[in-house]
Amino acid sequence: MGSAVKYEHSIERSTELLRMALPLMSRQAAALHPVSYAVWYEYVAGENPTLRAAMDRTLASDGALDEAAVHTLYRRHVAEVDPQTAQRVADGFQRVLTGMAESAALAGDQTARFGSSLSRLSEQLGESESTPALQEVMHGTREMQQAMARLQQRLDDSRREIAMLRDEVRRVRHESLIDGLTGLANRRAFDQRLATLLAIAQVADPAADRQPCLLLMDIDHFKRINDSYGHAFGDQVIQAVAQVLQRHVPAAGLAARIGGEEFALLLPPTSVDEAGRLAEKVRATIAGSRIRRQGAGDPLERVTVSLGVAPYRRGESPREFVDRADQALYASKSAGRDRVTVLGAA
Ligand code: GH3
Ligand code: MG
Ligand code: MG
Repeated sequence: MGSAVKYEHSIERSTELLRMALPLMSRQAAALHPVSYAVWYEYVAGENPTLRAAMDRTLASDGALDEAAVHTLYRRHVAEVDPQTAQRVADGFQRVLTGMAESAALAGDQTARFGSSLSRLSEQLGESESTPALQEVMHGTREMQQAMARLQQRLDDSRREIAMLRDEVRRVRHESLIDGLTGLANRRAFDQRLATLLAIAQVADPAADRQPCLLLMDIDHFKRINDSYGHAFGDQVIQAVAQVLQRHVPAAGLAARIGGEEFALLLPPTSVDEAGRLAEKVRATIAGSRIRRQGAGDPLERVTVSLGVAPYRRGESPREFVDRADQALYASKSAGRDRVTVLGAA
């Protein structure tokens, strides 16, 4: 996994970096989009040495970066970059391009003015006196005007593209809360929701017998599944388990993949009994399912999960809350797996 680089660059520095990145990027086979921007931005910023080394290796062997290479580099070395940085990178490009477009427009204006004064001169001289040399200059001027117009057009296109990229960055920001393999919320989204839910619980009616509840779930003997059938099938099992969990999320609840084969279900104020029943339903559904290996006809020996359930105790930190649910999960593991352990309310 790449390092989580946090940029503290000034606007001037970012613009400078983008100027350096632009020509490098445009030489590649990959299209210009936030992913390639982010990769090249980090490359010229020089603060991500593993990315730089990997890119230098790819460039040395393949000559240029294609789509696949850019995305791989991004996933391995940049993906953890914070979304605001991605936004800043896109904004920076917009600024650089706007600057270029303005210079081009200015140069175009000057060319046009020069051209029209040449035309006036030629009119004053009269067609007969218009020398071949003057005609050549006018011809050159017209060509230059056309070239400037084409450049202007290209810059306008680029600016439109950048505007689209900014929307894409917004989308990526949204996706940075989602786990790529399962489509569930990821750890970050889970932490955010947990903090919000507990903040509300601190000020809720103290007499209420319903509290936020946390279900933690871990696939049993998952290492064995990986070892027997391979990592790709392991991933398929993770997806299947995630789907079952997702089907059991009540309104205002959140299902998340918080680790490799570890999941959480965060419930809004709920009675402990109800939370325990839900956990048992999830467990039984998974234990009753069979996951087929793609290509192989035989059903797999059944996959099971262990769960721990804890109701929130007012005053405890998110960490303490998660730790208690984890202890309940651990109790299920040591008692033989494929079971639910529910901690009582405080
Ligand atoms: P237990 O019943 O005690 O939970 O046993 P276990 O084998 O499930 O426990 P352990 O935590 O030792 O093993 C988890 C394994 O999950 C180890 C790791 O290689 C694998 N793993 C973690 N993330 C992924 C993933 O994204 N895909 C796949 N296929 N395997 C993963
Ligand atoms: Mg585990
Ligand atoms: Mg496990």
